[in-house]
Amino acid sequence: MSGPQRGFSTRAVHVAAPIGVGQQPSSVPVYQTSTWRASSTAELGAILAHEQAGYSYGRGYGNPTVDAFEQAMADLEGTTAAMAFSSGMSAIHAVATVIARSGDSIVASNRLYGGTYSLFVHVLPRYGIEVRLVDISDEDAVRQALEGARALYVETIANPLLTVADLESLAVCCAESGVESVVDNTLASPYLCNPAASGFGWVIHSATKYIGGHSDLIGGAVCTDAGRAARLRSLALDQGGAMPPFEAWLCLRGLATLAVRMERHCASAAALAEALSPHPRLAAVRYPGLPGHSDRDLAERQLRGFGGMLALEHAGGDAGAARFCDSLELAWLAVSLGGAHTLVSHPASSTHRQLDAAARAEAGLPEGLVRVSVGLEDVSDLIADLTQALDRS
Ligand SMILES: *Cc1c(COP(=O)(O)O)cnc(C)c1O
Repeated sequence: MSGPQRGFSTRAVHVAAPIGVGQQPSSVPVYQTSTWRASSTAELGAILAHEQAGYSYGRGYGNPTVDAFEQAMADLEGTTAAMAFSSGMSAIHAVATVIARSGDSIVASNRLYGGTYSLFVHVLPRYGIEVRLVDISDEDAVRQALEGARALYVETIANPLLTVADLESLAVCCAESGVESVVDNTLASPYLCNPAASGFGWVIHSATKYIGGHSDLIGGAVCTDAGRAARLRSLALDQGGAMPPFEAWLCLRGLATLAVRMERHCASAAALAEALSPHPRLAAVRYPGLPGHSDRDLAERQLRGFGGMLALEHAGGDAGAARFCDSLELAWLAVSLGGAHTLVSHPASSTHRQLDAAARAEAGLPEGLVRVSVGLEDVSDLIADLTQALDRS
């Protein structure tokens, strides 16, 4: 291709070619390419029509780096297939719209991540899809709501109050009602819980959080069986929102250390919960591993650990919570979770600032709530920082 008869510009475009190495590298290479060269018109047509294996175009038709991440996710969640997305929200949107169409309804937990709540309450109704919110700890209410619905949508550990869904019972309700079962497993990660083993048909992750693990990417994934994954992929090709190759590479790198990171997140969160519980400036510490937590037994049965998230209720209400957040010296005030840095957020002034006190109460958010994503720092330093901030609040 770089023969002397071709001009400089032509050579500049064509000179680069993959080096055949004939050996396995320790790291999956990043195939940073949007399109793939075919050897014939017939071959390209067959690949695009999924009649022949091969690569064609990056928007969900496949990429070796993304494929490797999808296979790893399916393996770790115990499903037969997975599809990676450009964000958790694009994954949730794709699953909701592959299951439901205009005229259908979905039943969802009333304890939801803010973005999911907004998608369900503000966006899906524009497509003619109705979403009904229920208290998923009330099995009779769930069964009643599921009549005529297409799906149930829940979160394994709900953000930000850390309530735990009874996945086994809910999967039975879904099977008996003949509806699809969908779970957002982000806060548990595949290390703490595999909802497919409890009978859930669709397991969604924001890979932005524990899977990436370093607060340096946005991504999502859906783990399911091969038939559902094929329907999802076919819709997602036209919706857009496929995961880019470099993000897949970062996620693969994150997965390699997921188990050891989760062990540390869980151990430090448990130690912090215990150390902070007696503090007079706190009205409550919510952590599924604390003996007083309402879902402690369920969490013990269903999760391999109690997770890396805490919810603190400041005794001084929202003003006290804000003083606490503003007094932190080591932990960072930031949204998101699941990374190496301890991140603290105050829903009343950030993710839930649009809600007044009455609306927050209805959403189950108590006054003075602070959410903590416990990072990988020395736990003694975290206890010291959160304690000094409470003392000053
Ligand atoms: C962050 C988050 C999402 C959304 O994921 P993005 O990657 O930010 O789009 C969905 N569900 C839960 C539980 C989350 O924490």
